[in-house]
Amino acid sequence: MNQAPALLAEPLTFRRDRPLNVAPVAATRVAVETAVSEPQQTSEGKLVFTDELAAEIQRESERLEGASPEEILRWTVERFAPKFTMATAFGPEGMVLIHMLAEIGPDTPIFNLDTGYQFQETLELREEVKRRYGIAVEMKRPLTTVEQYEQQHGGPVYRTNPDQCCFDRKVKVLHEAVLGMHAWASAIRRDQSPDRAKVPIVGWDKKFGLVKVSPLANWTKQQVWGLITKHNIPYNPLHDQGYTSIGCWPCTRAVLLGEDERAGRWSGFAKTECGLHTS
Ligand code: SF4
Repeated sequence: MNQAPALLAEPLTFRRDRPLNVAPVAATRVAVETAVSEPQQTSEGKLVFTDELAAEIQRESERLEGASPEEILRWTVERFAPKFTMATAFGPEGMVLIHMLAEIGPDTPIFNLDTGYQFQETLELREEVKRRYGIAVEMKRPLTTVEQYEQQHGGPVYRTNPDQCCFDRKVKVLHEAVLGMHAWASAIRRDQSPDRAKVPIVGWDKKFGLVKVSPLANWTKQQVWGLITKHNIPYNPLHDQGYTSIGCWPCTRAVLLGEDERAGRWSGFAKTECGLHTS
């Protein structure tokens, strides 16, 4: 299990009485202005992975390793907005990042990959986010409805080939959703699974051609839920019924005592990830 960085011994909250241009942020801004130039992009607006960008990613990832999620988000917003976006499935980690972004980068476009198979509770959480933070999470959908998709394939693809289903209804949609963007935030934690254990704070996402920032990489489940409780951050009520990780309803079940927190995803298949966070 990862140790929380020493910096996290301080309260992990933003406060309205704490101005955003406090010293660490000002220092970050100076560093950005003096050490890096605008990232190169193609005529279609796609980020070019130059040696300079690779060096910046490595340098910033190392520098931010001990930073708080808020500091990581501030750097990301300052460096990449308005070409910085976030995808959320409205999990507890995503809700924590939305809570932080409401203060740090309220104009950040946030979207959800609406496969057509999401739980009603998940969809309702979108409305709660709008009420609480004034943030309208955009629902990005595949070209086909669930009915059309299942008809085309002779039945539910999640039963026979969940990799294909996730590719068609999530990965392809994400490719479209991030066109013109340079960076995206993920809400993954290193201690969630062996697949996620090595995620850097800032990395290059080869699959989507984006800088990928994981502000909660060093956080634990306890820290996430601690912040949710402290600030009464909305969360999916299914978590109170044993669903530790929530995706589409056909591929999610509640976990049993002692099971891994992602054991309820694609139960019965070797699959552990939907393909968004794998290279
Ligand atoms: Fe399809 Fe299941 Fe993937 Fe959702 S999680 S896209 S239903 S395979």
